[in-house]
Amino acid sequence: MMTTQQNNFAVNEHGYYGDFGGAFIPEMLYPNVKQLQEQYLQIMQEPAFQQELQQLLRDYVGRPTPLFLAERVSEKHGVKVYLKREDLCHTGAHKINNTVGQILLAQRLGKKRIIAETGAGQHGVATATVCALKGLECIVYMGEKDIERQAPNVARMQMLGATVVPAISGSKTLKDATNEAIRDWINNPVDTHYIIGSVVGPHPYPDMVARFQSIISEEIKKQLLEKTGSELPTHVIACVGGGSNAAGAFYHFLDDLSVQLVAVEAAGCGIDSGMSAATSQLGKPGILHGSKSLLMQTEDGQVVEPHSISAGLDYPGIGPLHAHLFKTGRAVFMSATDEQALKAGFEISRTEGIIPALETAHAFHILNEMTFRKDDVVVICLSGRGDKDLATYMKYL
Ligand SMILES: *Cc1c(COP(=O)(O)O)cnc(C)c1O
Repeated sequence: MMTTQQNNFAVNEHGYYGDFGGAFIPEMLYPNVKQLQEQYLQIMQEPAFQQELQQLLRDYVGRPTPLFLAERVSEKHGVKVYLKREDLCHTGAHKINNTVGQILLAQRLGKKRIIAETGAGQHGVATATVCALKGLECIVYMGEKDIERQAPNVARMQMLGATVVPAISGSKTLKDATNEAIRDWINNPVDTHYIIGSVVGPHPYPDMVARFQSIISEEIKKQLLEKTGSELPTHVIACVGGGSNAAGAFYHFLDDLSVQLVAVEAAGCGIDSGMSAATSQLGKPGILHGSKSLLMQTEDGQVVEPHSISAGLDYPGIGPLHAHLFKTGRAVFMSATDEQALKAGFEISRTEGIIPALETAHAFHILNEMTFRKDDVVVICLSGRGDKDLATYMKYL
């Protein structure tokens, strides 16, 4: 039995979830991060801020997103499967929930220039979109490899007026783009806000991003109550890159211990293949991008280059909240390979008429690996739509 107290999964005043978190930053960034630490909660709680945020989430992002009972998938697995349709958010993924929030916060901090890193390009597109809406300069760092495999999103960012800067070091993917963004922030500490796209980075980013994404589980509770008479499902399943859609989908269920939380990582070519991004299985405690968490590293602490077919999961770490959920056993961590994700992506497209992002397809695969009881209620966070992945899907058609 777990003897969990209320709020055992909330960040503490030092920015830690259990053993993980904190703010490990170069001295040059200290004033920026300190300002955020001191002000984020206060700003987020201001009535005027909340009013503007809620209005944008409703009228611009299109919230609440539907909770859809996927009948054919439900029938196949002998259990009720509901899909939380974050793919229907403006720009096609959950990322914009956080972007809208952080831009409003940046404006209140007097920042005029916005930088971001992006993997699949969804966070870059979401950032470029809201920068266009608010008339702010936008620079997006993106790995050269991701620029190639996510061409439609690169074009969207450019169309929206953002500058896309290739990251050409390391594996030329998300980790390297993040390094470039941090470097930019160090060089432009006064006028620039760095919008991190997942629940990673130094405190307060993991908590701030989780709070902005927590709208997902807030809505799930209300919608389930309406549809089933109970606000609690038996399972919530979400894919994990850095972990922001999962954090949002889990957030309001963290203290409801009857709800089984399932985090799905990318196993790439297989967990033991040397080409994987299954951080919880392969990672050890270490520091990456400003916080202590689990990360894939060699014996002497060099970051291991990750691999996943989906750019959004191709990251060697997970956010500190997820490292804590893994260590305490509050969430079960599972994984899907590239091939399994592709197969699940095709299956959902043809049984429900919804083309999921390759990231999300990993979460769908897990239905095949789990056994359910007939009256279980499963919610899958459908984190994004698959338009950006069509070229990859087509190679396997
Ligand atoms: C970015 C992205 C992910 C992975 O990021 P998290 O922070 O783990 O949510 C998953 N799905 C989609 C559609 C994405 O765009």
